[in-house]
Amino acid sequence: MSIKYKIALYYSLSAVLLLVTFASFSYYFSAKMRTQEYTGRLTYRAESIAKVLGDGAQIKSDVLLLDKLDQTAFQDLFLEEIMVYDPVDFDLVYTNIQDKVVQVDIRQLELLKREKYMHKQVLVTEENAEQAHEFELVGIYDTSNKIPLLVLVSAYDKFGHQNLTNLKRILLIELAVCVALLVAIGFFFAKQMVQPIIRLVRQVDKINVNNLQNAKVNIRGKNEIAQLAVNFNTMLHRLGESFNLQKSFVSNASHELRTPLAAIISQLQVAIGKDRTAEDYKQILQSVLEDAENLSELTNGLLQLAQSELGEQHFKFQAVRIDELLLDVPNLVNVQDHKKRKIEISFERMPEQDDEITCPGNESLLKILFLNLVDNACKFSPQHKALVSIDFDDSYITVKVQDDGIGIPPADLQNIFEPFYRGENTVNVRGHGLGLSICKKIVQLHRGQITVESKVGHGTTFHVKLRKS
Ligand code: ADP
Repeated sequence: MSIKYKIALYYSLSAVLLLVTFASFSYYFSAKMRTQEYTGRLTYRAESIAKVLGDGAQIKSDVLLLDKLDQTAFQDLFLEEIMVYDPVDFDLVYTNIQDKVVQVDIRQLELLKREKYMHKQVLVTEENAEQAHEFELVGIYDTSNKIPLLVLVSAYDKFGHQNLTNLKRILLIELAVCVALLVAIGFFFAKQMVQPIIRLVRQVDKINVNNLQNAKVNIRGKNEIAQLAVNFNTMLHRLGESFNLQKSFVSNASHELRTPLAAIISQLQVAIGKDRTAEDYKQILQSVLEDAENLSELTNGLLQLAQSELGEQHFKFQAVRIDELLLDVPNLVNVQDHKKRKIEISFERMPEQDDEITCPGNESLLKILFLNLVDNACKFSPQHKALVSIDFDDSYITVKVQDDGIGIPPADLQNIFEPFYRGENTVNVRGHGLGLSICKKIVQLHRGQITVESKVGHGTTFHVKLRKS
């Protein structure tokens, strides 16, 4: 069921429920008040009869008695029946009617005598009448006069019941009209409310891979749906950007892979083209080896990049002593490269305790991070020299990797952390432009910061700030 219908349904149901409850309460209390008021009248009537009959005056005839009794009634009681019993042997002392409609037996009289008061509703179907009438029967045991008497008066509250029937009719008509109106109003408002959602759905429906870049949804207003549209646009923008990045990443990666592969293939084709001397073969194999190493470096870089993009939960974080980790780096750098490199490690100030230079992190990722920075420093400086210094304060450990190499042109500075981006002055230096993007991802994973300062021809310094907790 669509939201529109659901809102309309829930709204109508709750409103109808409220109305029905309201109408039922109105009817119930009106009925109750009618009964109270009518039994009050019957009780008054019974007390008056008891007074007339119980004062011991000589009553000449039934007609006279009736007249006297009628004088006590302030209002006519419809189909009134009066029954007066002797409380000792339960003989009927007086009744105003021969064919009694409401029957009273001895047990009821005994009960009345015990309890002094009785009220009952008796359903009576009169002869030739279509429906039964609910008679009110009130009985009292009067002992306040000379002669104690059991007086029972029953009558049918014709006007009260008529009023109630009218009230029921009015309430039912009101209810039917209100329900119809409520359903219509509920449907109208629900439609108004979901209109922006429908518009949003239609606009989103039109977005696809081809128009993702400039896609935008437009919902006016300041409500939640307009806010959703704004957030959706932000998300679309980010999606578009990462989609672009993805595209350029794939084309860059395949380009980088293709170059050494094409070189290997052409060299091997040349080699098998005709018979050559052992020296020629050696040279060709040497060149192929270099290209294969290049390929291996590239695939390692891609693998590390993919790894560093995984979330924190994929890595084991533990306390890492940064100085010990950095002491390992020169060996790793030298293993990778045959050229002799000079790496100097120093402290800005000496730590007194281990935890001053310990931070939570993943050891292998942090090694890749510093290895890349030190490798770059050596690679881009004529002396192949890197100066690494460690500093710390209460919250951070800062590692500085410095060289006096070629430097980074200002125009390149903001892009060097992008995958496959290489500075314009690096044509003669081997690399794929992946190292720094991996470094950035690793630092982000450790919730740290990486910044760079550089001056062309003078050297470059990378600052890595790692949180101690
Ligand atoms: P690669 O070293 O393979 O080119 P990186 O991602 O490690 O890739 O570096 C990206 C670019 O940043 C380099 O091509 C270079 O232009 C610049 N760069 C990084 N480190 C240094 C450095 N120490 N000195 C000069 N330029 C650097």
